[in-house]
Amino acid sequence: MHHVAIVGSGPAGYYTAEALLRLWGEDVAIDIIDRLPVPFGLIRSGVAPDHQSIKAVTRRYEGVALNNNVQFAGNILIGKDISVDELMALYDAVVLATGAPHDRKLDIPGEDLPGVMGSAEFVGWYNGHPDHADLAPPLDTSHVAIIGNGNVALDVARILAKTPEEFHGSDIVAHALESLSGSRIRTINLIGRRGPHQIAMTPKELGELAHLERAAPRVDPTDFPDAGDDAMLEPGIRKSVSHLRAFAANPVAKPITIEFDFFARPVAIEGEGRAERVVLERTALDEELRSVGTGEHYSVPAGMVIACIGYQTPPIAGVPYEHGRGRFANTDGLILPGLYCVGWARRGPSGTIGTNKPDGAIIAERIVAETPTSPSRKRGRTGLHDLVRARKLDLVSFDDWQRIDAAEIAAARHGAPREKFVSVDEMLVTKSQ
Ligand code: NAP
Repeated sequence: MHHVAIVGSGPAGYYTAEALLRLWGEDVAIDIIDRLPVPFGLIRSGVAPDHQSIKAVTRRYEGVALNNNVQFAGNILIGKDISVDELMALYDAVVLATGAPHDRKLDIPGEDLPGVMGSAEFVGWYNGHPDHADLAPPLDTSHVAIIGNGNVALDVARILAKTPEEFHGSDIVAHALESLSGSRIRTINLIGRRGPHQIAMTPKELGELAHLERAAPRVDPTDFPDAGDDAMLEPGIRKSVSHLRAFAANPVAKPITIEFDFFARPVAIEGEGRAERVVLERTALDEELRSVGTGEHYSVPAGMVIACIGYQTPPIAGVPYEHGRGRFANTDGLILPGLYCVGWARRGPSGTIGTNKPDGAIIAERIVAETPTSPSRKRGRTGLHDLVRARKLDLVSFDDWQRIDAAEIAAARHGAPREKFVSVDEMLVTKSQ
C-alpha cells in the first residue's frame, strides 16, 4: 500500500486522486485534507452561483471521494494544525493542491481605503466562503470600478448587474442576494490596462452581458484596431472581440451601464475616508503588446473598487515559495523529494477547471514513477488519526459532509439548489447532529 496525502479538495486535488486510483488501483490509500469542513474548493467558493452547470462536475469528484481507498479529512489546516513536515513523515507523497485563494495586490496608493477589495473577497462573499461572509461591500454607491479584463471581472460585473429574479436557480447565498437587491449601482466600469485584442475574457462569458435584464455593455468604437486585424487573432479571442464589436455597434440603454474602459491603468484610489474615485493613466501598447503609460490622467467615480487581477497561493511555513508568481517553487510539480504541487498552486491562476485534469494526471504519473515500489513503511492514515486525536482536532469526514450537504439542500429557498452555511461553526454543529 502507498500512502498519499493531498492538501486541498478542489478540482486539482480530486483530479490527482482520480488519476492515482487509475494508476495504482487498490495499492494506494489517499487522504484528501481541506482546511474547510466542506469539499470542492473553487467549485463551491469560486465558480459563479449563476453558472450551476459548471458545478455539476462535483458529481465526478464525489465518485472519487466515495472510493474505499479515499478519505476526506476536512477542517484541518496544514501549516497550523499539522505541519507539512509531519505529513511528509507519514505519507509516501504529499501533494499541495491548495489553489490560489488570496488576492494579488494592486500596489497603488489608496488600496487600503474602505470600499476597495479584491475579487477573492468579493467572490467569496457572494459564494458564502466563511472567510468573507462579513465583507459588507458598499452597494449604496452608484459607481463601481472593476479592475482587470479576465473572466473573474466578468463574473463580478454580471453578479453586480443582475436583478434578484435573474438569480433564480442559483446558489447565491441569502446575505448576498439581500444586499444586492438593495444595490444602487448604475455604472460599472470594467477597466483594462490594454485593449480589446488583449482581453482574457472567453466568448461565452462575454456574450452573457448582452442578455442581462437591466444592464447593458457599452464599448467605445474608437478603441478597436482595424477590423481586418481581427483575422490574426486565435479563434477564441476573435469570437470575444466580435462580441465587443457588436456591443460597440449597437449601444443599448438600460438602467445599469457596464462601461468597458480600455487602455487605462489604475495609478491611485482616492476619497475622504472611503473610495470615491479611481485615478487612471491612459496607456498605449509597446511592440511587445505591454501597456505603457502615456502621462495623461483622468478619474472615474467609484464608491466601490474590485480588483480582479489574479490570485496567489498562500505560502505554507517551510515550503519553498516563488513570491513574484504567488505559487510554490517547483520544477514540473516537484517541490522537494516526496512533496509535489498541482493546479493553481503549481502553475498559478490560469486555465479552466478542465485544465486541472491533465495537470493532476501528470503529477500522479510522476508520483508513481518516483515512489519506491517496495512496501511502504509510512503510517499514512493511522498516523494522521493519531495526530488528530492527540491535538483534539474536529476532523470532518465525507459522511459528515454529506450531512452538511443534505442540510444545505433542505434549507434551499424556492428554486435554489441549496442555501450554504457561511460559518465554520454552523457547519460543525450540523455535521454532529
Ligand atoms: P486573468 O484571466 O489572468 O485576468 C487578469 C486580468 O487582470 C487581465 O486582464 C490582466 O491584464 C489584468 N491585470 C493584472 N494585473 C493588473 C494590474 N496590476 N493592473 C491592472 N490590470 C491588471 O485572471 P482572472 O480573471 O482572475 O481568472 C483566473 C482564471 O480563472 C483564468 O484562467 C480564467 O479564465 C478562469 N476563470 C474562468 C471562468 C469561466 O470559465 N467561466 C470564470 C472565472 C475565472 P493583462 O492581460 O494586461 O495582464
